[in-house]
Amino acid sequence: MSEFDFDLFVIGAGSGGVRAARVAAAHGAKVALAEEYRVGGTCVIRGCVPKKLLIYGAHFAEDLRDARRFGWHVPDCDFDWATLRDNVLAEVDRLEGLYCNTLSSHSVHLIRERAEVRGPHEVETAGGARHTAATILIATGARPAVPDCPGAELGITSNEAFHLAELPRRVVIAGGGYIANEFAGIFNELGSRVTIVNRSGEILRGYDDSIRDRLLKISVEKGIDFRFHAPFERVEPREGGGVIVHVGGQDPIPADVVMFATGRAPNTQGLGLEQAGVTLDAMGAVPVDEDNRTPVPSIFAVGDVTNRVQLTPVAIREGHAFADSQFGGNPRRVDYHCIPSAVFSHPPLAGVGLTERQARERHGDVKIYQSDFRAMKNVLAGRDERALYKMIVDPTDDRVLGLHMIGPDAPEILQAAAVAVKAGLTKQAFDDTVALHPTMAEELVLLR
Ligand code: FAD
Repeated sequence: MSEFDFDLFVIGAGSGGVRAARVAAAHGAKVALAEEYRVGGTCVIRGCVPKKLLIYGAHFAEDLRDARRFGWHVPDCDFDWATLRDNVLAEVDRLEGLYCNTLSSHSVHLIRERAEVRGPHEVETAGGARHTAATILIATGARPAVPDCPGAELGITSNEAFHLAELPRRVVIAGGGYIANEFAGIFNELGSRVTIVNRSGEILRGYDDSIRDRLLKISVEKGIDFRFHAPFERVEPREGGGVIVHVGGQDPIPADVVMFATGRAPNTQGLGLEQAGVTLDAMGAVPVDEDNRTPVPSIFAVGDVTNRVQLTPVAIREGHAFADSQFGGNPRRVDYHCIPSAVFSHPPLAGVGLTERQARERHGDVKIYQSDFRAMKNVLAGRDERALYKMIVDPTDDRVLGLHMIGPDAPEILQAAAVAVKAGLTKQAFDDTVALHPTMAEELVLLR
């Protein structure tokens, strides 16, 4: 008999926590999992999944317009936000149910309460119950970070965007990252007037310069208004409803909704980690080693709360590697090299490996191959929107160092191509592959 109530106590039923709990239980561990909000975490409940569904919904605006050029008699169409919102939320409910079923079929003891750490082997749940465990896993994710400015409470974050009572006529989005650009695309396609307000002079830091420049150009052409070098000053309520957004160096911007997409902070407030001996870093993230172990040997952490790479597939891999290592007799580490990522903007973009700037910093001289083209479908649709594919190659051994693209279905295409980049294939290997015609992806094997 173990001296503890559980072999593993997981805090947070998101991407990393659910995977770790399920796999550890499958390895025979007695597992408890506490969740303060909804099972599935950010990705399923208020992140990747509902966002992607909204993006599909928004894309119909262009598809319906383009359909006319393909011979379809499309009458003037109305859009009903409540229908899209409610259908998306119903799908989220369905997925949450599936997650709960998986946990229960693996005999994971689910506690639908907030949990806090009370010691290296002790957790307290909101109802006051204390539980002991040989191992504690912190998988509490991250939350939207809202700037500390007067009137910030009048704004929303991505959390609330999925529940809006109605579609705003005018929306101001603060931030320049992927969440800001994705929601700008959604609202703009659905008919809102969108202004992105950004403290710096650029969007999507970390992505290749040519690709983000192309998104900016297309977004402006689609009608999104960008205000750069415009620090947020305050938000005021507006007579008759809505808000007025004051930003540095610009005229005040009236809006129905202001949304903050200004980064995500690790969920460690009041979690009790420091009292248990885990000192948080300056961002409030949980420090861990390559095995996801904190300085307290019985406490581990995975996912966004560690502020390494804040992406669902990474949290899942970390949770899986943790469970295999600690409970499956199969020590494994996550390989962080060449993680592909995407922005589901309109059009979407995706990248893997080094950007041109990073490659030049690390390798000096690099070869750049590009294809700047109009997708066949866009040509017939009369849509003057160009795709851009860019490959960065090490001239010393012909290895592909990075691949970046913007255009229709870019994330779908890049996922497959990322296998080649991760495997260290050469430009010649791409050239040796016969094109699959007619596709957009064939540009990858025809790059000159
Ligand atoms: P989470 O999934 O956030 O789960 C943490 C869970 O812990 C939550 O359910 C929370 O309620 C719970 N919790 C917190 N504190 C406590 C406590 N004390 N007690 C009990 N429970 C607690 N990633 C992608 O890869 N692709 C995308 O397209 C993408 N789009 C996104 C879009 C948006 C709008 C957002 C916000 C995020 C998006 N992400 C995307 C990021 C992705 O959602 C996260 O990287 C991922 O969910 C992290 O998983 P996690 O397990 O670390 O944390």
